[in-house]
Amino acid sequence: MDAPENQTAVARQASAAAEVTPFVNRRDPARLLGVDGLPAISRRAPIWQDVPDEKWNDWRWQLSNRVNELEEIGQILELTDEEREGLSAPDKFRVDVTPYFVSLIDPHDPDDPIRRQVIPLGREKSAFTGMMEDSLAEDRHSPVPGLVHRYPDRVLMLVTTQCASYCRYCTRSRIVGDPTMNFNRKEHEAQLDYLRRTPQVRDVLISGGDGLTLAPKLFESILRGLREIPHIEIIRIGSRVPVFLPQRIDDELCQMLQQYHPVWINLHFNHPNEITPEVSRAVDKLTRAGLPVGNQSVLLAGVNDCVHIQRSLVHKLVENRIRPYYLYQCDLVEGSGHFRTPVGKGLEIMEGLRGHTSGYAIPTYVIDAPGGGGKIPVMPNYLISYSDHKVVLRNYEGYITTYEEPPTYRQHDRAACSYCQNERAEPGQSGILGLLEGERMWIEPKGFSEIHTRGNTEAHRLQDPAKWVPFGVGAIEGTAAASLQVLEAGAVDRGSEVPGGLPVPAYGPGEEPRPREGEPTGSAHGELL
Ligand SMILES: *Cc1c(COP(=O)(O)O)cnc(C)c1O
Ligand code: SF4
Repeated sequence: MDAPENQTAVARQASAAAEVTPFVNRRDPARLLGVDGLPAISRRAPIWQDVPDEKWNDWRWQLSNRVNELEEIGQILELTDEEREGLSAPDKFRVDVTPYFVSLIDPHDPDDPIRRQVIPLGREKSAFTGMMEDSLAEDRHSPVPGLVHRYPDRVLMLVTTQCASYCRYCTRSRIVGDPTMNFNRKEHEAQLDYLRRTPQVRDVLISGGDGLTLAPKLFESILRGLREIPHIEIIRIGSRVPVFLPQRIDDELCQMLQQYHPVWINLHFNHPNEITPEVSRAVDKLTRAGLPVGNQSVLLAGVNDCVHIQRSLVHKLVENRIRPYYLYQCDLVEGSGHFRTPVGKGLEIMEGLRGHTSGYAIPTYVIDAPGGGGKIPVMPNYLISYSDHKVVLRNYEGYITTYEEPPTYRQHDRAACSYCQNERAEPGQSGILGLLEGERMWIEPKGFSEIHTRGNTEAHRLQDPAKWVPFGVGAIEGTAAASLQVLEAGAVDRGSEVPGGLPVPAYGPGEEPRPREGEPTGSAHGELL
């Protein structure tokens, strides 16, 4: 092609490219549209139908209109007797739910997974074996109020006891929700002061309560205080605000956060129903502001104790660029008895994730050590022993602890679970998960079923029936004697007599000839050598 022709072709291409309509990404959950062609929105409970959008979308309105009284919640949800009992208990853990979050609940379904996280049940008050007020011994590891210094290089900084809504299983229910136990400027200053004097701390995790419920100016002053300390490398925020109150994640907040980079954020989703279009847009803002977004889930009976729910959850998370970080075993904390699952449930979920889905979608399954040893991954090296009611674990520093399993656990009802019923088929590849879920009883290696016939060379190639002949008992008349003769013949063949009469092998260790296929041998090493 000569030069002028070439130039014409390029010009033609360029003008064609300019005419192409901009690409519309229909897969990005942050750009999801509703039937009206406007950004998708979640259901709103009828009692708030007339609230103007500007109010509904204002996080301050959401916070000041949270529901907590039996009568109020009874107008939104069809309450069960046990929920009424839970809501009227005088000494219950604080109840408060944002209008946005309570609206996501199916009012007619008492087992709704969002409902179970925020609406109390009467049985919350039942004690259980192993129950502790401060099961992670946080108070014992606090050099100043609200600062938990458990690990060598990082701290947990509790900046408030307030949250946007309250989770029934909260691990910090001993302080969370209680306005009389709140942390304020004075505590923040003491925490910062400790950090200034403690150069080994390179990572600070801001939690609570939920720091994002603080007045924006106050929260920013904490971030600034931390950033003024040169040895602090990363700041992390642990928050459930984007779940309960996605309206809070506005441009102003993101602008502010990105001034204090590197800032990471971990959210807390437990069920796919919590990932709404509002959440997708909020998380999109956070990622655009440069915060890597992670997720920590708690394994909860009746909410997410299901491989298929968890798989759907992690898929929705990665679609929203949220990286699953931890899956926590439910702590031994007051109020959480009915949420607890056996550790085997968590292992089954991990079995259902690894290999079955992207590595990005797989969290680490951890038990937060009772007594305060930090997060312990439930895997070999850390899982030391296991009985029918206790798990023995060790942490990175050699601390050994136990986790008491729940004495009763109502198994997940697969027949009633739409996630189980609509599970994605994995023809021939369900593997160990298929065994755990009872899809089949065993997996046979190739050729295994021919084990009792001679000539099986694929599996159990050393399983010659002669191996099972009871030598000297004569159970199979003649066979035993013949086998013995073979052995004796071998000894004579391979050895030579010495004056003392003991046979001396003609081969050094590892030099023996390989057994031929199908020839009986007790030594697998012989095969390898
Ligand atoms: C969870 C936690 C941390 C952070 O642990 P990572 O495993 O690094 O996420 C730090 N301090 C305390 C007290 C914690 O509970
Ligand atoms: S958001 Fe976190 S701190 Fe607040 S109630 Fe829930 S679990 Fe507890």
